[in-house]
Amino acid sequence: MTDTHPQHNRPVALSIAGSDPSGGAGIQADIKTFTVIGVYCGAAITALTSQNTLGVSSYLPLPAPFVKKQIQDVLDDLNVTHIKIGMVGNQEIARAIGEALEGFAGEVIYDPVIKSSGGVSLFAAGSTAITEHVISRTTVLTPNIAELEIISGRTCGTEDSALAAARDLFALSARLKAVCVKGGHMNVQAKTITDFLVQKTPAAPEGEEPDLQISRIDHPRIFSRNTHGTGCTFASALTAYLMKTGDLNQAFRSTCAFMDSLLAGSTAYVIGHGIGPLLHHDFIRAKDETDRTLP
Ligand code: PLP
Repeated sequence: MTDTHPQHNRPVALSIAGSDPSGGAGIQADIKTFTVIGVYCGAAITALTSQNTLGVSSYLPLPAPFVKKQIQDVLDDLNVTHIKIGMVGNQEIARAIGEALEGFAGEVIYDPVIKSSGGVSLFAAGSTAITEHVISRTTVLTPNIAELEIISGRTCGTEDSALAAARDLFALSARLKAVCVKGGHMNVQAKTITDFLVQKTPAAPEGEEPDLQISRIDHPRIFSRNTHGTGCTFASALTAYLMKTGDLNQAFRSTCAFMDSLLAGSTAYVIGHGIGPLLHHDFIRAKDETDRTLP
């Protein structure tokens, strides 16, 4: 077919994740996040979960060759520059993702989802298949403290131990250039939480311990029942802002501000009987109202 469009094929993002039919987490949270930030994204599904706000009751990983086919079809056609990965599903899917991303030279942001908020295992950062096939393709990893502990094999009860664990992760893959540690689960009673962006400085010679640049953002903890999907939303927002700005430090600051605003705007609502979702659509309305009051 001849290309009748004078514009070049626009850069887009792709999310690779599981589906949450209640709309709070997984691919549904990812698409909402990219959309409210203003970035087009595709969605390749790894597994179907059956769940609501009370928890995950079961999940069905898709056949690995079919997951690979979805990713390849999108990469063959769309100009994908940034990929966000969430729930992987099983070892075969981890391998399929690795194979499909062979030769992909753009950014890969991986949120190493281990379990649902209710504690159901969604497979499995810490497994060798994840390290070999997914972390090896990752440029930016976004673990919470529990995920950081599992991947690094270290206990991360303090800031210093979490930063030491993040440093260890750079040994897993030469491609990994940043680890964004979400501190929300570190001391759950603390009124302030700290997120860290730990970056490898580009000058580190092969085989030597990299110099690290560490940025931190402290924010007041927002106490809310509505936190389902915060991990997925954080990683998607980081991907979207990285795409918009091309600068990881800026993307980190914008993501933390976006999360604070979205969490605060979602506290008052009751959706479902359990851990409620974030209200991405209300974020657009709130932004519209702010825009309207601007001179
Ligand atoms: N992906 C899927 C499909 C899920 O069902 C869940 C949690 O239930 C997650 C990811 C992780 O959710 P969160 O962002 O709350 O860590």
